[in-house]
Amino acid sequence: RMNKEQAKSRGDRVPGHEPCGIIDIIGHGVKKVKEGDRVTVYHYLGCGHCDQCASGNLMWCREARGYGGPVDGSHADYVIADERNCVPIPDSVSFIDGAFIACPGGTAFSSMKKLDVKAGNTVAVFGLGPVGLSGVAIAKAMGGKVIGIDILDLRLDLAKSIGADEVVNAKNDNPVDAIRNFTNGKGAMLAFEASGSTQGRTDIIHSLSRGGKAVFVGVGSNENVINPSQIIGSQLTLMGSFVLPLWLTWEMVGFVNSQKVSFEKAVTHRFSIDDAPLAYKIFDEGQTGKAVFEWN
Ligand SMILES: [Zn+2]
Ligand SMILES: [Zn+2]
Repeated sequence: RMNKEQAKSRGDRVPGHEPCGIIDIIGHGVKKVKEGDRVTVYHYLGCGHCDQCASGNLMWCREARGYGGPVDGSHADYVIADERNCVPIPDSVSFIDGAFIACPGGTAFSSMKKLDVKAGNTVAVFGLGPVGLSGVAIAKAMGGKVIGIDILDLRLDLAKSIGADEVVNAKNDNPVDAIRNFTNGKGAMLAFEASGSTQGRTDIIHSLSRGGKAVFVGVGSNENVINPSQIIGSQLTLMGSFVLPLWLTWEMVGFVNSQKVSFEKAVTHRFSIDDAPLAYKIFDEGQTGKAVFEWN
């Protein structure tokens, strides 16, 4: 989600970086996908030749360009996509779940892979927007015991419906104390920071158990909150994570399909593209779960 200044800086481009749909027409030389294929579209274009592109990390290509800016994106009836970016999805994976795979779900999946969630691990998820809610669903499917933290009751309710075992409203309760209570004083083995807030980042450090691991994906605050002295005694591991590599998109389609994961419970608003001005207005108020455009 971009703020207004970021959106303006992208100029006169079609927004939308979470595309999923049906291939309508293929261009000259396209061999691996065909008309009628259902695909999720990886949202960074790379040069296709460099070391990062060769390893599937198109988001790190020095010529990386994202759909929705600077490349025209998917809030439109049609989007032009590179063949290599089109990852097939089976009929059992919905277009909405495919759109989640393209960005918020993919971002969460890449993070949960870094955390290496094992059955029975406690996973604290800070910030329950679309990325955090996706993290709840994925951590649950990996066997985690999930605690969701946010300051909006709507989002806590969505977290419960998508699989959280416990939720904490950080406006009313201290999340560090709540996490310690849920874990018999030990703290969470794993944590996922999707709020981008100073408070969320600070609380994470104090919520982890000895030997705990945290991954940070939420951007926002620029305050320095991490003091290395605090991670030494408990041997904490802190990591950053940014979207997902193209190769992991393929793995995630298989994971979502085989584990029957769905992110649709995070969706609170569905719009036709004709209602885009209203959709942007409602979404901008920040009181929604995931809002999506649908085509029939
Ligand atoms: Zn490249
Ligand atoms: Zn996104």
